[in-house]
Amino acid sequence: MPENGKRNTATRNRHRAYLRRTKPPCGLCGEDIDYSLPHLDPGSFVVDHIVPLARGGADELDNVQSAHRLCNGQKHDKLAGETTKAAAPAAPRTYVTWRTW
Ligand SMILES: [Zn+2]
Repeated sequence: MPENGKRNTATRNRHRAYLRRTKPPCGLCGEDIDYSLPHLDPGSFVVDHIVPLARGGADELDNVQSAHRLCNGQKHDKLAGETTKAAAPAAPRTYVTWRTW
């Protein structure tokens, strides 16, 4: 069991190298990513944790995906809003599902 809250640069570099090699599309918007873009370009790729580490996600390859820097920033905004909503239990939540029971 890896210690939580520890940032492992070696692991992160390994994930980056893996994504750069396999070049998957953005896991958030589904569009292709230009892996040759400079680091700070909004369209450049970042390593995104599918389940955020702060929420107990594992720092493992099966929990990482590629995302545009821009998309990743928007995801963070969304998560912040989600947290605010969860703190206000008065607002009812509607769950949409396509699943048939
Ligand atoms: Zn994207």
